[in-house]
Amino acid sequence: MGRRRRKVARIPKKRLPQVFLCPQCGKEAIRIDLSKEEGTASVGCGACGLADHLPFTSPTYKEIDVYCRFTDKYYDRRKSKI
Ligand SMILES: [Zn+2]
Repeated sequence: MGRRRRKVARIPKKRLPQVFLCPQCGKEAIRIDLSKEEGTASVGCGACGLADHLPFTSPTYKEIDVYCRFTDKYYDRRKSKI
């Protein structure tokens, strides 16, 4: 019984699959593009088409920060509609 198992250890390179959960359709399809030169971040959902632009001024701003603001804004807008 000489069963040898060869472990194929393939570590995938961690590219940035920066997708976030969409507050509108609930899919992980939100992409965020930071344009540091312009100081804007564009947020868009690949599934339902929800999109927005947010300003960001801090150089330490990251995608996740933009995402938080984006969802905040989204829920705010919804609240004010009711
Ligand atoms: Zn969506």
